[in-house]
Amino acid sequence: MAAGWSFDNSFARQLEGFYAPWQLEPVAAPQLLHFNRGLAERLGLGFNGLSEADLARIFAGNALPEGADPIALAYAGHQFGQFNPQLGDGRALLLGEVVSPDGQRFDIQLKGSGRTPFSRNGDGRSALGPALREYLVSEAMAALGVPTTRSLAVVATGEKVQRERAEPGGISTRVAASHIRVGTVQFFAAHLGPDYVRQLADYTIARHYPAAAEAENPYLALFEMVMDAQAALVAQWMNLGFIHGVMNTDNMALSGETIDYGPCAFIDSYDPRTVFSSIDTQGRYAFGNQPFIARWNLIQLGNAMLPVIAEQDDAATEKVTALLEQFPERYIAAWLKGMRRKLGLVDVQEGDLDLASRLMKAMEGQSVDFTRFFRALARVPAEGPGIASALFDDPAVGEAWIAEWLTRIEGDSLSAADRRAAMDAANPVYIPRNHKVEEALAAAIEGDMAPYERLLDAVTRPFEERDGFEEYARPAPDSFGPYVTFCGT
Ligand code: AMP
Ligand code: MG
Repeated sequence: MAAGWSFDNSFARQLEGFYAPWQLEPVAAPQLLHFNRGLAERLGLGFNGLSEADLARIFAGNALPEGADPIALAYAGHQFGQFNPQLGDGRALLLGEVVSPDGQRFDIQLKGSGRTPFSRNGDGRSALGPALREYLVSEAMAALGVPTTRSLAVVATGEKVQRERAEPGGISTRVAASHIRVGTVQFFAAHLGPDYVRQLADYTIARHYPAAAEAENPYLALFEMVMDAQAALVAQWMNLGFIHGVMNTDNMALSGETIDYGPCAFIDSYDPRTVFSSIDTQGRYAFGNQPFIARWNLIQLGNAMLPVIAEQDDAATEKVTALLEQFPERYIAAWLKGMRRKLGLVDVQEGDLDLASRLMKAMEGQSVDFTRFFRALARVPAEGPGIASALFDDPAVGEAWIAEWLTRIEGDSLSAADRRAAMDAANPVYIPRNHKVEEALAAAIEGDMAPYERLLDAVTRPFEERDGFEEYARPAPDSFGPYVTFCGT
């Protein structure tokens, strides 16, 4: 179909053997449920003369936009610590890459688009609920300023998929800086050897980290840049209370974007042990474990890249090890940078890390709503500490920390008004709260998109308190029991 998208499929062109060309399988009755017009404009996607039905056909895989060349990407990965040498796009197809008017390159991928050579025992399809969930949460993350894949559209397929019960099928269109994962590198290291890993690394450098090409050892530089990007990413998750839920190495993008929204969710009350995912029985991917897992995953990346890094350096093992040893301090620096913004501190003072860490300690076991606390804290200088300390089971615990913070901000150069504004720009009012997400998805699956649209509206303008949106800022009612999330499979 002549859609007018400027495809330029560099991965398919340059990395032959790294993927399987594949054709889309049409679905019965595609219906466009949501379309991200703003993102489409940013990408420079043309829709001249296309009807909504045409869009539904494109985003369902029933019609191919001109210039698309669908491929399924190969990858491997450590899943819950176990190496699986053969994963790959089992229910997704990369349509191709478009270059936006500002010169950025994006992958456009259909997810839930049918079986591929990598489907193993899966049906290649997605249920509608998880497709809508990925759209909602990834767009919320983008609005929160977190590097993330984006969502361009969701269609209902008009077909059923069999999960625990029969559910309506859905296809989401994902937009990513690229789909190169830690697991992609692992696939080539495990099956094909250093020549292929080097080719993939060269491609990744050119596409994401061109500065690495100037380094003495570009592959070591690439490793370091990916490490920093992932440390910064996970720090942002921790600043916001986001749990990815399934940080397998195949779900970590080398670009540093959040990818693969499956059993993800935001914490409500602060507890580092929080786990929502039904399959994470050991708590491997618990909220507080995420920085440790990020480092564990980078060790796997280091292993996969080592032969290529070592080609140019006899001390490669020592250098990769030394970088990995720096992960904790680089992560903490990124986390603290985010905490300074959340706490309204512009000057760097020595005690800041302790102050921020003591807040986390104070919140633990106190059922403090993580998101609400920071918004309340911003009001404390004007309205008194009670507004924030009341969120603690024992307000005295909150009060004690707030007193420390009040002393700290006295020595900071921001004015009171600027601090309030800065904190409100760093701390969201609206996040996709679990009970609201469930409510919106349940209605959407019954055919009522209104609650979904309204929640999406709230969470895509997360910092701006608006009349009429109060319900999205409130914690779940007590009747909303322990929350469990499921992978989108
Ligand atoms: P995920 O848990 O979504 O990160 O997926 C892990 C692996 O399972 C990937 O290789 C997916 O492509 C594959 N997979 C997940 N769901 C399906 C499905 N319904 N059909 C085929 N493959 C799937
Ligand atoms: Mg995945």
